[in-house]
Amino acid sequence: MSLAERVPFLQKVGDTLLANKQQYAELMTAEMGKTLKEAIAEVEKCALTCTFYADHASTFLADEPVESDAQKSYIVYQPLGPVLAVMPWNFPFWQVMRFAIPGLLAGNAGLLKHASNVFGCALAIEDVFRKSGLPEGLFQTLLIDSAAVEGVLKDQRVKAVTLTGSGHAGASVAAIAGSRIKKSVLELGGSDALIVLADANLEKAAEVAVKSRMQNAGQSCIAAKRFIVEKTVKKQFTERVIEHIRQIKQGDPMDDTTTMGPMARMNLADDIERQCHESVRKGAKLLVGGDRSGCNVQPMLLDQVKPGMAAFDEETFGPLAVLIDAKDEGEAIRLANQSDFGLGSALWTADAEKAERLARQIQAGSVFVNGLMRSDARVPFGGIKTSGFGRELSEAGIREFVNIKTVWIDTN
Ligand code: NAP
Repeated sequence: MSLAERVPFLQKVGDTLLANKQQYAELMTAEMGKTLKEAIAEVEKCALTCTFYADHASTFLADEPVESDAQKSYIVYQPLGPVLAVMPWNFPFWQVMRFAIPGLLAGNAGLLKHASNVFGCALAIEDVFRKSGLPEGLFQTLLIDSAAVEGVLKDQRVKAVTLTGSGHAGASVAAIAGSRIKKSVLELGGSDALIVLADANLEKAAEVAVKSRMQNAGQSCIAAKRFIVEKTVKKQFTERVIEHIRQIKQGDPMDDTTTMGPMARMNLADDIERQCHESVRKGAKLLVGGDRSGCNVQPMLLDQVKPGMAAFDEETFGPLAVLIDAKDEGEAIRLANQSDFGLGSALWTADAEKAERLARQIQAGSVFVNGLMRSDARVPFGGIKTSGFGRELSEAGIREFVNIKTVWIDTN
């Protein structure tokens, strides 16, 4: 199919998502516990991304003339073929769709190995493409466990792989891809810093910090995992953070008034509890939360967190916010960069010039100034250091799985 033929199919995918959003959202909530409201917003975001790429794919993938000493030279963007997607459970629709929409528009086929706890979503996503009239098999869900990924990736029909998940899984899959000289994109963990400088709007910063950390029960790769706060405003910021944390209402994720559902699996709740306890043993102070009933972990706020503690050094994938003191902006940047990860980050300051200067110093794939760190189809998404490589979304994302072919024509 030409790109012009593919576009209407992807527009239809957006329509199918919206027409069935309640059903898909309920499935996500049932399988991994996010609130129904969050799940509905997730389906809507996928549909919006269909519209974005349907509107822009012809620009992103248009032939590009290049000035050279040839009579004519240009670049064409051509599909690679079937791409394997190994995906996590935390945003069961969004993680898959942000790969699949640009991937299919670029002319590739998609094979999905979804996380084992969201196989219902995996089948539903395959059905979205079927219902939208895409040719049979163009997007296919494989209900396999992680040990079977190697065989699929080594199959010569599979041309590339994208993985969103932990560093452990990413390293393993990228090594297999490397052994067969296949392209890989890795979207891995993060330990995003949220820096609050003394001149920041503390009310807004605290509200957004808590939202960023606690949404999806804290299970987001780009959650604000380390609040790094200039000492002079630490007390005021902390008071506001506590107020916002106290407003979180835990309970039945299907209930409209619930703002935090359970964590997705018992072992994830065990992990966050361990990270909190270990940090407290090394001198951190628990200011709020910490009770637990099964997968329901009461949102926690840890103060006096320092390098060398689990809550600073490791990725925390649950409702645990941490406060880290910085004596000035220089120390704030040093602490932000003192991490193996480099996914997202946020910076709060009223000084626009300072914001742009410091944004360049932060070692991360994104810096959001005075706003919520988020993924947005219009801008590239991805990390550096152990947060991975390659980009999703925007023009950068649709060009990850294409052959960027040079055509150089001379006269005889
Ligand atoms: P995970 O254990 O790595 O699982 C992710 C996916 O990889 C699942 O489909 C899993 O299958 C599969 N998998 C696990 N080990 C594998 C292996 N050795 N070989 C092949 N496939 C393997 O990650 P998770 O704990 O579910 O997800 C949370 C992690 O994902 C966090 O670190 C989070 O930060 C990261 N994440 C990153 C982004 C991003 O965009 N950068 C977005 C969301 C999440 P099974 O379920 O069958 O084990």
